[in-house]
Amino acid sequence: MALWPGSEPSMNNWTLHKRQWLASLLGVLLIGAVLAVVLRLAAGGLLQREAERTALVWAHQIEATVSDLDDLFAGQGLSEAGRADLRRLRLVREVFRFKLFDRDGRTLLVSDELGGTAEPPTVATGTQSLGHGNETVRSMVLGGANVVELLRNTHADRPAVYSEAYVPVLRGGHLLGVVEVYVDQVERQADIDRAFLTVATAVFALLALAGGLLAALAWRQWRRSRLADERLSYLARHDPLSGSLNRASFNELLRQAAWRQSSGGPDFAVLCIDLDRFKDINDSLGHAAGDEVLRQVAARLRDLVRHGDMVARLGGDEFALLQTGVDGPEAVSRLCERVVESLGLPYELAGQTVACGCSVGAAIYGSDADNDEDLMHKADLALYRAKASGRSTFSFYDASLDERLEVRRQLTRDLREAIGTAQLSLHYQALYGSDGQTLTGYEALLRWNHPQRGNVPPAEFIPLAEDTGLIGPLGRWVLRSACAEAASWPSHLSVAVNLSAAQFRHDNLVEVIGRALDAAGLPARRLEIEITESLLMSNTEQVLATLRALSAMGVSIAMDDFGTGYSSLSYLWRFPFDKLKIDRAFTQHLGTDDKVNLIVKSIISLAHSLEIRVNAEGVETHPQLRALLDQGCDEFQGFLLGRPQPVGRLAHGDQRADDTSAASTALG
Ligand code: C2E
Ligand code: MG
Ligand code: MG
Repeated sequence: MALWPGSEPSMNNWTLHKRQWLASLLGVLLIGAVLAVVLRLAAGGLLQREAERTALVWAHQIEATVSDLDDLFAGQGLSEAGRADLRRLRLVREVFRFKLFDRDGRTLLVSDELGGTAEPPTVATGTQSLGHGNETVRSMVLGGANVVELLRNTHADRPAVYSEAYVPVLRGGHLLGVVEVYVDQVERQADIDRAFLTVATAVFALLALAGGLLAALAWRQWRRSRLADERLSYLARHDPLSGSLNRASFNELLRQAAWRQSSGGPDFAVLCIDLDRFKDINDSLGHAAGDEVLRQVAARLRDLVRHGDMVARLGGDEFALLQTGVDGPEAVSRLCERVVESLGLPYELAGQTVACGCSVGAAIYGSDADNDEDLMHKADLALYRAKASGRSTFSFYDASLDERLEVRRQLTRDLREAIGTAQLSLHYQALYGSDGQTLTGYEALLRWNHPQRGNVPPAEFIPLAEDTGLIGPLGRWVLRSACAEAASWPSHLSVAVNLSAAQFRHDNLVEVIGRALDAAGLPARRLEIEITESLLMSNTEQVLATLRALSAMGVSIAMDDFGTGYSSLSYLWRFPFDKLKIDRAFTQHLGTDDKVNLIVKSIISLAHSLEIRVNAEGVETHPQLRALLDQGCDEFQGFLLGRPQPVGRLAHGDQRADDTSAASTALG
């Protein structure tokens, strides 16, 4: 099968997830960068504070520990003890320099000038003053405030990082002098940098872990949603029962094939397939068996098609094939033949074998239609023709189908409008009793007087009404009208109404008939319903129940057109028939064909032994009537005795028919 374009949702999903991943990655990187800056600032702040603190500590240390410092500040030189203290201070590696100033900011002593440890410190005589020319620092310090600075790379002979603190020495609120101390901060910075690096490494490791986890979670979620997407898109494209494509995806592929063909791609055809008598399998063996047949049908179709062809189930028992690479009608008809043959083979269902053929309608893109919708429509018309021409066969689209269908459509529209108008009426055909002379009732026959087409035969519009669902309202109208009419007749006359199988499927007939009788005030025993064998072939249990209920109400039941369908004798004893109507096809040959005489005689005798009365339809000649009378037929109906008449022309008299010779005359 061709690659399906609908993997699109997954692609979108993938793009979405890729974006989410990228966003997460960027988020992690951003958080990392912000954290790095924050840590860097924190480390800088920490160093600043530590550097200031240690510088102040050392300055205070000098102030507190050096003996006779007050004397030095007072300009009296440095005592031996003070000198020794200062020398000791020089041994402190961290303090690489210190200075003392008098209260005017003049330099009294610089540690570098104290000489080696053996040398006595000397009082500096230099003029370098406090604050290195920075007046703000100078005035702050001389005003009694501590000033501390962290400095980097100021002189080649000084440590790369150091702090410098000015601490005024005050006594009783008066400034005596100032201690300035330089503290090496290189090691401290290295310590802080190491600590920063450790923290940063840990934080980044955590971030990487969190990022990894996020990525793993996102990946898992993406995989899950991709699987769910794939499942959903599979379900959206396929029929879950047969595994074939569904109608929507078939239509989509059809559109694509049409597009490809119009851009120079290969020709293609559509085959519409409908299973014959699938409903019977469903009804008689149950839905599970029906489902299994559908699965096997789909599998057989898949085996038949070539790579690139498509198999779809359009719904119910309808399938479709898209045949690609078609090089002429012969290729299509070969595939049609193979389909009819393959689906016609028996189906094995849990121990039993069932048969179910198919009809196929085909149309070719380009020659039959030039757009996908039209192609489908035409393949469908061809299928309709295949079915009409006797199932288990295939048919190609033919332009005359369109015209016939259009006529049908128009007629359906007209019929819908005709219901409830004077265009529709009932004619009544007389039924005579066993002597051929006594009127027993009438059969109601529907007539449609179409404004343009004149009288449309029931054989044409009744099947149309059955196919389109119009038979429901139409049938109810017939029942109501026939009952209402019959109620005005002499009480020994009955009325027979024809019912379609479709009325049993869609209407609650017992209720509909009950209402028609009540409305007319007609006793149930005066109503007879006529059904055909086609009704008994499907859904038998429900039909049987309805017929029994009607029979129990007192309504008579007649089997119409007996002998034309399957004439299964089992119907005769399973269903509660009161009457059997021998079809006109037999009556016609009575008296001229001995075999027909024999068949009719046998039917009458069989029916009588089952206590079923027999009516002979279509009596047209005297010999026919004579033969039927001789064989003990119970009821007669036909043009010889009376044609169907509008209600106004019914006379209800025995032994007469208004437009033909009377039965008595007929009998001579
Ligand atoms: P049917 O129920 O078998 O009705 C008998 C048909 O045979 C009628 O045709 C009637 O006019 C015709 N007929 C009667 N005697 C003779 C005869 O001696 N010679 C010939 N050649 N024909 C005779 P019609 O009225 O055209 O009805 C055709 C069929 O349409 C009916 O067959 C019945 O199946 C169906 N139909 C008619 N009215 C209704 C209706 O109201 N509801 C339903 N569901 N079907 C109806
Ligand atoms: Mg009838
Ligand atoms: Mg009939």
